[in-house]
Amino acid sequence: MACYDCELSATRTNVVFGTGDPDADLMLVGEAPGKNEDLEGEPFVGRAGQLLDSLLDEIGLGRDDVYIANVIKCRPPGNRDPLPGEIDACKGYLREQIRLVRPRVVVTLGNFATKLLLNTDVGITRLRGHRHDQWWLGSTLIPTFHPAAALRGGDRVTDQMREDFSTVRATLDEAGMSAADPTPPDQGRLELSG
Ligand code: URA
Repeated sequence: MACYDCELSATRTNVVFGTGDPDADLMLVGEAPGKNEDLEGEPFVGRAGQLLDSLLDEIGLGRDDVYIANVIKCRPPGNRDPLPGEIDACKGYLREQIRLVRPRVVVTLGNFATKLLLNTDVGITRLRGHRHDQWWLGSTLIPTFHPAAALRGGDRVTDQMREDFSTVRATLDEAGMSAADPTPPDQGRLELSG
């Protein structure tokens, strides 16, 4: 895929679009590719990705069962924070990914994804632990920390992520029970518009 909609195109190696099952019930949204992801063209292949894999494994899921994407598809140089203009240029891709995959549950990993998808300035520490039912297209959004924050923050943050992932498991199980009653197409709020 080639995109030249922002200046990150000048410094990236690969566009890191997304990976996994395009029919997944669970979609995870991170921030932006880091060095390893930029080189390999896949999201979450570094240490943060290993932690993510083990949290998924604890709720009985593997990479092939989920879809993983980032807010920003190209690495910001030196892993700096994405700029507002870069998020604006890129957010249409994420909106289409969510619309096409149409997951039952969307997990936002960290502040950037959570603030964008919930259209809020409230930080992740206050938002995690609460799920947002009927977020968009009938899906439930569950905010949690970014796995890199857990690598820095130690057991306490990892345990909170574990709690959030068990909410993910419970929500998927509930959704499975009501699978005979799918949400009609295009019902719900569009948080990424504008
Ligand atoms: N951090 C992210 O937010 N996304 C990745 O793909 C890797 C690290």
